[in-house]
Amino acid sequence: MKATIDVFNCLWQTQLSVPSCATTLPSRAHVVVIGAGYTGLATALQLGEAGRDVVVLDAMNIGDGASGRNGGQVIPGLKLNPDELHQRFGESKGRVLADVVGGAADYVFNLIRRLNIDCDARQDGWIQAAHHDVALETLRNRAAQWQSRGGDVQMLDKARTDQLLGTSIYRGALLDRRAGQLQPYQYVHGLAAAVRALGVNIFERCAALQLRRSEGAWTVVTPHGELRADQVVIATNAYSSPLLPALPHTYVTLWSLQAATAPLSDDLLAQVLPGGLPVSDTYRVLRYFRRTQDGRFVLGTRGAFRDDLNHGDIARVRAEMLDIYPMLENVPITHCWCGRVAVPAASIPMLSQPESGLTVALGYYGRGVAMATRMGALVADLVQGLPPQESAYPVTPFKAMPAAPLHRNVARVAANVMRFQDLFERRVRGVRR
Ligand SMILES: Cc1cc2nc3c(=O)[nH]c(=O)nc-3n(C[C@H](O)[C@H](O)[C@H](O)COP(=O)(O)OP(=O)(O)OC[C@H]3O[C@@H](n4cnc5c(N)ncnc54)[C@H](O)[C@@H]3O)c2cc1C
Repeated sequence: MKATIDVFNCLWQTQLSVPSCATTLPSRAHVVVIGAGYTGLATALQLGEAGRDVVVLDAMNIGDGASGRNGGQVIPGLKLNPDELHQRFGESKGRVLADVVGGAADYVFNLIRRLNIDCDARQDGWIQAAHHDVALETLRNRAAQWQSRGGDVQMLDKARTDQLLGTSIYRGALLDRRAGQLQPYQYVHGLAAAVRALGVNIFERCAALQLRRSEGAWTVVTPHGELRADQVVIATNAYSSPLLPALPHTYVTLWSLQAATAPLSDDLLAQVLPGGLPVSDTYRVLRYFRRTQDGRFVLGTRGAFRDDLNHGDIARVRAEMLDIYPMLENVPITHCWCGRVAVPAASIPMLSQPESGLTVALGYYGRGVAMATRMGALVADLVQGLPPQESAYPVTPFKAMPAAPLHRNVARVAANVMRFQDLFERRVRGVRR
């Protein structure tokens, strides 16, 4: 598998040309939303539909953050299982929360239909494939928990898993029919178009540099002037700057790395992921993969701890692709890119109101296509006056993780240990084959 020259591009971003944004910054708005990814745009959408005067700012361009670079796997739920949510938040709040997160994929697909967003959206399932028997047991347990709440989730035996995936390396899998896939950059731009159609202005390359509160309102300082607002929403996820000193320390940043092949031949399409459903596996350094509308194979895995890529990164993703599908050996990689993922302190996304008129939502831990969109509506409810204790999602105190700067180094070491454990397990798998 060879790489082509101009390879360090995000596939999704090369598939769409986008309109330019508003240029003249107003001096006032009712709500300023900082961050034009799924969280910020879904917030602005609901507020715009309610007739609020909203302005959205982004330091980069729409979809330059994780929302335009992700794997496009629309997965309901969080990394924690519903029973764990019950244990943590109590029976009644836990049940409401499990319903909210379990319904997040439905929420996204309904929104796409309602807004008529053209983004290759398909809600026909997502597979989580187990790399050994212990992982398979964990998936059985997860499936049972969702089934007991009416979720369309089932287990696949090894034969069916092999058939749908076109590989025999997994022991079995969970199939979640509530889930699906989409083209992430088209989706974020579809949201932006819907927001703009409501008269909401989005300003790109317009970073919020500073926040100040005086006389009951916020001032947002940008390179293009200052903006007064009654309410501010921070939706900057893993791209946060220290707008509030603790903000970048409320989560740990990981990088996720993806690569796409050239379109596959009909022969390879019949062998590589013939079921066509997106997949994540259960390795500690997990792999997630899918096919695209134009027949490419795209795989993602944990990246290095940096934004810039080199040919070693391509070699790493290629090795992961070939571990699953050796028949891709001679197919060129045409695109390779990465993005930042925010791992929250509490293992679930954070929704917080650190000060009056200020709401922060971030930390989706690789489950943000569905959940960040859903979170936008929850944020908008708070901005429109819903008391935090009545929110369907827990509104928690805003605080930095203890010893936050240390976490990055710990994460780096942990990533290496986990990679080593995975390699060992793959050796064992090779012997068992
Ligand atoms: C490579 C990769 C693959 C992933 N795959 C999946 C997947 O398959 N399924 C899934 O569910 N999730 C996945 N995720 C996670 C998902 O993409 C994110 O959780 C989600 O997009 C977060 O959306 P967001 O709007 O909160 O943040 P983002 O989309 O990251 O947007 C934050 C925005 O804030 C802006 N910003 C930051 N600071 C400022 C400032 N001071 N002023 C103005 N703007 C600012 C940034 O420019 C950025 O545009 C993946 C993530 C990555 C990186």
